[in-house]
Amino acid sequence: MRISITDLCNLRCQYCMPEEGIRNKKLHKEILTFEEIISIVEAGAKLGINKIRITGGEPLVRRDILQLIDGVAAIDGVDDIALTTNGIFLKDMAKDLKRAGLKRVNISIDSLKPNRFKEITRGGDLYKVLDGIQEAINLGMTPIKLNTVIIGGFNDDEVVDFAQLTLKDEIDVRFIELMPVGEASQWATERFISNHEVKKSIGELIPIHEKTSGPAEYYRLPEGKGRVGFINPISSHFCGSCNRIRLTSDGRLKPCLHSNHEIDIMQVVRNNPQEIAEVLKNSIMQKPERHFLYSNRHEISKRNMSEIGG
Ligand code: SAM
Repeated sequence: MRISITDLCNLRCQYCMPEEGIRNKKLHKEILTFEEIISIVEAGAKLGINKIRITGGEPLVRRDILQLIDGVAAIDGVDDIALTTNGIFLKDMAKDLKRAGLKRVNISIDSLKPNRFKEITRGGDLYKVLDGIQEAINLGMTPIKLNTVIIGGFNDDEVVDFAQLTLKDEIDVRFIELMPVGEASQWATERFISNHEVKKSIGELIPIHEKTSGPAEYYRLPEGKGRVGFINPISSHFCGSCNRIRLTSDGRLKPCLHSNHEIDIMQVVRNNPQEIAEVLKNSIMQKPERHFLYSNRHEISKRNMSEIGG
């Protein structure tokens, strides 16, 4: 289960969020409390949902994040908790996060050039993210995964630099295809680069034939310590093996990232908590056979990624 714990973010990545943010801050009562999130995870754990990813918006801007991780880590049946973050606050928070029970982190980073990083994130400080990554490495929060979206004409000349990060440290660098959702939905097609192209530009890669639970295909550079991964939501559908259920901060279950179909679990948690497990089960059964990104536009999710969590 992927849980977006806030819509708020301290960055404004151009393809993810409008400059002014998503909308006015929601009222407190419109956001699931941490106790409510815990009760949904508990019900899910009884159904066999054993992997939890905390995301956002930026999860590290939520004040009760440590309590939340501590609470999720204590649930019987949850054996994997991970976090997706932009890494800006990671250096300062990594020790406490680990102490609270966080096992591992994914860090999003789209450029290794400070000015470019500032441009794409509208103001972010690359050095803070690099310090955060180093801190996670020092603390052994493994496997550390860096997620990079390659954008045509913007950072496509940095593919090799990113891949080469796996030579020095045992980290995974994963290239994720830009999806035409939210802010990026109106972008020109030249900006969307398939991972086939990205992979070709890296040169020799040795396939790794391990079975992983996620959608990434993994390779290694000759002499690489870490892995180079490709996540291809656009060029190859992995809908058939998608086992994710998403929970938004305003209490909606999303059986598919790309579909507008949502189930209001907030009302259930608040009024009929004994029914949480049933609603969760029904929502999972409503996972569509495939996404409709290119075939039936009115079904497409109207939310930005920053509201759903990547
Ligand atoms: N703030 C956290 C972070 O930066 O990782 C978590 C939320 S962010 C929405 C999660 C991931 O979604 C980021 O890696 C971001 O690059 C990715 N993302 C956002 N919009 C996207 C799009 N249109 N296509 C592909 N990935 C996208």
